[in-house]
Amino acid sequence: MSLLAAYIPETVVDFAYLGAAILFIYALKAMASPRTARVGNAIGAVGMLVAIVATLLVLEIIDWKWIVVGLIAGTAIGAVVAYTVKMTAMPQMVALLNGFGGLASGLVALVEVYGGGTTTESSAEFLVIAGISTLIGWLTFTGSLVAFAKLQEVVIGGRPIVFPFQKLVNFAMLALAAALIALLAYLPDFPHVIIPLILVAAVIGVLFVIPIGGADMPVVISLLNSYSGLAAAATGFLLKNNGLIISGALVGASGIILTRLMCQAMNRSLLNVLFAAVGQVRAGEQKERPPVKRYSAEDAAIVMEGSQLVVIVPGYGMAVAQAQHVVKELADLLTARGIEVKYAIHPVAGRMPGHMNVLLAEANVPYDQLYTMEQINPEMERAGVALVIGANDVINPAARTDKGSPIYGMPIIDADKARTLMIIKRSLSPGFAGVDNDLFYADKTMMLFGDAKAMVSDIVAALKAG
Ligand code: NDP
Repeated sequence: MSLLAAYIPETVVDFAYLGAAILFIYALKAMASPRTARVGNAIGAVGMLVAIVATLLVLEIIDWKWIVVGLIAGTAIGAVVAYTVKMTAMPQMVALLNGFGGLASGLVALVEVYGGGTTTESSAEFLVIAGISTLIGWLTFTGSLVAFAKLQEVVIGGRPIVFPFQKLVNFAMLALAAALIALLAYLPDFPHVIIPLILVAAVIGVLFVIPIGGADMPVVISLLNSYSGLAAAATGFLLKNNGLIISGALVGASGIILTRLMCQAMNRSLLNVLFAAVGQVRAGEQKERPPVKRYSAEDAAIVMEGSQLVVIVPGYGMAVAQAQHVVKELADLLTARGIEVKYAIHPVAGRMPGHMNVLLAEANVPYDQLYTMEQINPEMERAGVALVIGANDVINPAARTDKGSPIYGMPIIDADKARTLMIIKRSLSPGFAGVDNDLFYADKTMMLFGDAKAMVSDIVAALKAG
């Protein structure tokens, strides 16, 4: 035992874990509001540092020199990823991180079952826990890879992949996995049972995610995040490591809460998200449409100047175009002319919860101008203009009226209740859910075709010139 480790009793490590757990809980609390989210992130990172350093030192897994090397390498990779991955690709990145979390748990369980790890146990309980860790870890890994591929549209597209008797096959695979876990516990001297269990778990992960449509992927990623936490907690029981149990349980619980919040925001049950294969192409329904009315940035500026309240509804397109800074400039110009400006934030606008809040915070939009859907909807009739910037599904009235639509029942921002509706987008193509939008053709709608950043910049220029 190294000199340092000899002076750090296990209780000190448990205290370090307790400290880390308190930091994690504070971090989660702070991350619930855009005002404190950055601080929350930093607090969580410090908690993780405390837990990792305590574990590695006391268990003598590696000495402090390797910890420093790991810290430098990990920090460098993390920094590059954080700076280069676009905000709109964040769900894919989270999918990969979840997947690696699951893989780590699966690999630890594998080593422990073969007796090469830190424990020497082979009791039935131990092997059942190892089996559970293997099952959840590997299915999280492959499921997350499929989720990544669907969102990135590499190898497979974003549409649901369905085949006959799919649910039956899924159920049979789960039953097979349960049987293999039982066998693993029953045959403590035959650890090789874990290999078919790994294969079955990997197949379950793929089968579980392929029938889910791309638009539902963020929900699935949040669920897989929760699974990666559960796998880590199971691994914590395996290693008798309180830090891992606590942090895994926190990830598991917060992931499931986020999953629930997303489902509620779309008015869907989790079972519907997982099994309804929403997003399949709907055959043969082409409506007769009146011609679309195109307008220019100058037209938009004139109408806005005659309004008392302009409600800005941002969506995924604003994120893609990185238009948040120029949107803030527009809002400032209008405010300077005595026009009230409010932002209407739909809970699932963009590609992850809080997506719009993060972008607008980045552009220093004051928090008191941000309104939730529940707060803004009663005011929409008072708005002279609803300026929809790269949003589609979250204002689509099909959610209210079209029972066959995949977004039916999703609460929407009542942009159509404003006196004039302006929609900035590049074409008439639908949003994430693939549903056509009647509002593009409505009498009160001014379609402003173009990239969100370019079009808002043009409106700003027109206002300044006017
Ligand atoms: P949508 O995906 O419905 O619409 C985005 C629109 O932006 C598209 O119609 C596109 O039209 C337009 N667009 C794309 N690029 C640009 C650009 N450069 N400039 C201008 N417009 C652009 O986005 P919403 O935010 O309205 O809805 C989010 C969707 O994501 C919902 O279906 C929601 O259920 C789903 N979802 C979100 C989650 C979340 O947590 N946020 C979680 C799960 C699902 P065009 O190509 O013509 O420009």
